[in-house]
Amino acid sequence: MADRNGAHSVKSAYKVLSAAATTSSQREVCLELPPIWKARVSFKAKTVTWRIFKGRLPTCDNLLRRQVPLSASDVLCTACEEENESVEHFFFVCKRSCELWDAILLWIGKYTALHHKASEHFATFSNIGD
Ligand SMILES: [Zn+2]
Repeated sequence: MADRNGAHSVKSAYKVLSAAATTSSQREVCLELPPIWKARVSFKAKTVTWRIFKGRLPTCDNLLRRQVPLSASDVLCTACEEENESVEHFFFVCKRSCELWDAILLWIGKYTALHHKASEHFATFSNIGD
């Protein structure tokens, strides 16, 4: 289903799926997602965030879950090459990503704990400008 402008987008698909959720478990899944589409960030950032929450990024743990054959060296984090790659590690635990988050916090002049779960991290950063 298209949006008001007649364009098809992830956002319009999300609205259709949210409206179509008729069972309580389907509604719970929709409610678990934070208000990604209302965030004041680029569409690309919204899409990546949505993919993080849905487990749709091609990180090594997600590829293994989909039966993609990977060698032991292939599963290492592409940023630090020290730990196995997962969404949580790559975005929130990896020493390289923590350096980036620290630089961002320093840049915006805010100091907060960095969470290791995507939902908690999103909640922290979606309210940080308020
Ligand atoms: Zn890493």
